[in-house]
Amino acid sequence: MPSNNKNIKYPYLPEGKDILYVPISDKYMARAKEVARGSNDQSIPTGAVIVSDGKIIAEASNKTPLSNPFLKKLHAKYCIRRMFKIPSGQKYWICPGCASHENHGEYRAVVMFQKKIKEVNSPCDLYLWGHWWCCKPCWDKMLELPVRNVYLLEGSEILFNSNNPDNLIGKQFK
Ligand SMILES: [Zn+2]
Ligand SMILES: [Zn+2]
Repeated sequence: MPSNNKNIKYPYLPEGKDILYVPISDKYMARAKEVARGSNDQSIPTGAVIVSDGKIIAEASNKTPLSNPFLKKLHAKYCIRRMFKIPSGQKYWICPGCASHENHGEYRAVVMFQKKIKEVNSPCDLYLWGHWWCCKPCWDKMLELPVRNVYLLEGSEILFNSNNPDNLIGKQFK
């Protein structure tokens, strides 16, 4: 059974919403990880899938605004937001390498869903691999469907959290 974790302090969570956790053996989470492999963001690749009636309707990875491989590598090492210790989710505009919410996997998956299905009649759930919380613009977008539950990988608050010393950032696929 997916569980939540009341001890995690998310930088943002809408009123009345909670995040649930599943292991990588969950087929939708496993798919979200595969989708993340298609990301061109080398530091924080993410993958999101939206499931309705047991079927995956939309899936998307995040995108970095940088297309030059050299700049991407440079950004993985020297992100301006990281250097100034800007909290996750804030001031994307100060770093040209940081993607704004329109490039986030969750946001892009909802946009894709909305292009495919105009009227949503059954509950939708979103599975996100590669990050440990969702920013406000992404939640706002997800609530348009609306997404009923957001599922993250168990341990995401450690594995994908740059503030946690045991994170996996830079070696997510190793
Ligand atoms: Zn950056
Ligand atoms: Zn976001």
